[in-house]
Amino acid sequence: MALRVGIIGAGPSGMAQLRAFESARQKSAAIPEIMCFEKQNDWGGQWNNSWRIGLDNHGEPVHSSMYRHLWSNGPKECLEFSDYSFDEHFGRAISSFPPREVLFDYIKGRVEKSDVRKYVQFNTVARFTSYNEDTQEFTVTVEDLNTGATRTHVFDKLVVSTGHFSVPAVPEFKGIKTFPGEVLHAHDFRGAERFAGKRLLMIGSSYSAEDIGMQAHKMGAKSITLSYRTAPMGYHWPWNTVERPLVTHFDASTAHFSDGSQDDFDVVVLCTGYQHKYPFLPSDMSLKSPNVLYPANLYKGVVWQQNTNLFYLGAQDQYYTFNMFDAQAWFARDVMTGAIELPSLAEREADIQLWLERLAALPDHDAEADYQSDYLRELIDATDYPSFDLDAVSQLFKDWMRNKHNDILGYRDAVHRSVVTGTVSAKHHTRWLNAMDDSLERYMQGPSQDVENGTLAAVTGTVTAK
Ligand code: FAD
Ligand code: NAP
Repeated sequence: MALRVGIIGAGPSGMAQLRAFESARQKSAAIPEIMCFEKQNDWGGQWNNSWRIGLDNHGEPVHSSMYRHLWSNGPKECLEFSDYSFDEHFGRAISSFPPREVLFDYIKGRVEKSDVRKYVQFNTVARFTSYNEDTQEFTVTVEDLNTGATRTHVFDKLVVSTGHFSVPAVPEFKGIKTFPGEVLHAHDFRGAERFAGKRLLMIGSSYSAEDIGMQAHKMGAKSITLSYRTAPMGYHWPWNTVERPLVTHFDASTAHFSDGSQDDFDVVVLCTGYQHKYPFLPSDMSLKSPNVLYPANLYKGVVWQQNTNLFYLGAQDQYYTFNMFDAQAWFARDVMTGAIELPSLAEREADIQLWLERLAALPDHDAEADYQSDYLRELIDATDYPSFDLDAVSQLFKDWMRNKHNDILGYRDAVHRSVVTGTVSAKHHTRWLNAMDDSLERYMQGPSQDVENGTLAAVTGTVTAK
């Protein structure tokens, strides 16, 4: 009987797993029986976002935390698939920091070429999983969200690719209950236009706080205060933005900070991160971890220690994204098919501990980028995933971080060189700060239609994605 593989979630990680098996099939390897369950009506995970907040049309929690005007926060050259370049997809050089819809188009392009959509059951949510130690089989109960019908499927291998930036972590702050303005978590943020003229308090000091804060600046917020727990981000913020230590309590619309300062606000945005949640798994198979570069209990960041038939993709904090999911998916594929033989439990544990020790000693962000590059190197060396220059990508991350430090509003206007094709990205027609239309169509058009340097330029050229 063919190996039966279940994949839960068809975001970039689940798509990578489908692509990994397709790549093997193209090389004439026997491929397993594959079934992938996706609760949304399309693939793409976070990149397939909607305007909805809270619950979707089926009453399921809305998955995507993305929003209007979201552009890539890292250079696209750091996430490029090594078997499907941006040049191949778009037919010409594009800029280094594309908006969400452009990256969504890119990740769909690769799998559409591969004829793997047939494996995905959309509008189908995984509800419950059990594992039979004797038969070494997973039984997964799924629900068809269109009909409400449930059914069970039996698998030899199970891949969890449901992401971990969807279930908000919502800390309590004294007095926040009676804050008279708006309080929301970053997960529910859909666009900063309505913050024009408002005084915003962002709690958190990572990507969401930084980007939602700067979206608010771009859309005309009166002031932005970023409140940190551990350390300030320390960028050269625009004139209306400051960093303060953690809020201690609220007194009506006044927030009090741990340095004794206080201020009045109209809006509080909790940019306090997300929880790993796998409600369809029993607790002994469910990853419990903060958002870190190496979650404990996963050998090579992928294989569940106590049950090597269970795999997690994309479970770590991410410098790399799409190409890391690929490296993981190729590795998971080869473990599943037996092409990679796993060492003993003790040897795997020793390997995990080495990574964790190194993680604990990382001095700065540059070292973190090198760490994740080394992690990818190990995975790629073990499989036939097309190799690429990881040192060059590490350097791209460092250049990006320095650009960001120097110019938080302008780093997305920089150009970078692809390590896959050698192409230097195109300078985009509109600076991030001035771009007010983030559609794919507008992105692919020529010179600026948005207000650039105070003038409205005419649109020329209408190149669209292939
Ligand atoms: P996800 O994209 O989260 O996909 C998981 C999929 O699983 C979803 O389709 C979901 O519907 C499905 N699912 C969940 N539960 C179930 C279930 N029980 N049954 C069936 N299906 C289920 N990365 C970048 O590279 N660049 C960026 O600029 C960037 N910006 C980001 C901005 C935000 C606000 C967030 C939250 C993340 C951002 N990321 C960015 C990181 C992003 O998480 C990854 O790019 C990528 O989407 C992760 O892919 P994934 O498949 O692991 O998870
Ligand atoms: P995150 O990186 O996990 O950061 C969570 C933040 O919340 C940390 O600063 C943390 O502080 C803080 N925090 C947690 N609990 C807190 C508490 N009780 N009190 C105060 N602060 C608390 O989460 P994220 O910033 O939401 O980013 C998630 C993902 O989304 C990342 O992959 C990121 O790349 C992506 N993203 C991308 C964009 C984009 O522009 N493309 C925009 C937003 C997000 P400590 O440091 O003290 O732990």
